Amino acid sequence: MSYKNWLREHGVKHKKIVEKLLTQDLTQEKIIEYFDFENMKEKESDFCPLYAQNKKCHDMKELNCYLCSCPNFRFSDAGIQSIENKIQYSFCSIDSKDGRQGVYGEKIHQDCSRCQVPHTKEYVHKHFDLEWNKIMQICEIQK
Ligand code: SF4
Repeated sequence: MSYKNWLREHGVKHKKIVEKLLTQDLTQEKIIEYFDFENMKEKESDFCPLYAQNKKCHDMKELNCYLCSCPNFRFSDAGIQSIENKIQYSFCSIDSKDGRQGVYGEKIHQDCSRCQVPHTKEYVHKHFDLEWNKIMQICEIQK
C-alpha cells in the first residue's frame, strides 16, 4: 500500500474513534488516555493489525497510539530524490537519532522501528489536535 493510501485509510479510522469519544464528552486528557495501547487493543481491535498479536510496534511500557504514524515523517510516493542510483521515498524531518534510512534494494525508506518519539503521552499532548488529518497533512511532500 502506498504511504498516501495508508494515511487516508488510517485517518478515517482515527476520525471515527475520536468522533465516538466526543459524543461521550471526554476531555483531551481522557481522549489521549483512550489511545493507550492496552486500551486500544481491547476496544478498537481494527485500528492496528498488531493488536491481534498483542504486539507493540515499539518496546515501551506505555505506548500511546494517537499519533501513529508520526508528524515528523516525510514522504512522497513518487520518490523524493535519487541517491546513488536508489530512490528515496521517505525521511525524518527532525533527523531523530533513533531513526535511520533503510535501504531495500533500489528503494530508501525511513525506518522508525527504534524511535519512540510520537508514542509518548507527553509528545501527544504537545502536538494534539482532534483532527489527526490536520496534524499529518505536513507529512506528504508536495512537489
Ligand atoms: S524517526 Fe522517530 S521522529 Fe522521525 S519520523 Fe520516525 S518516528 Fe518520527
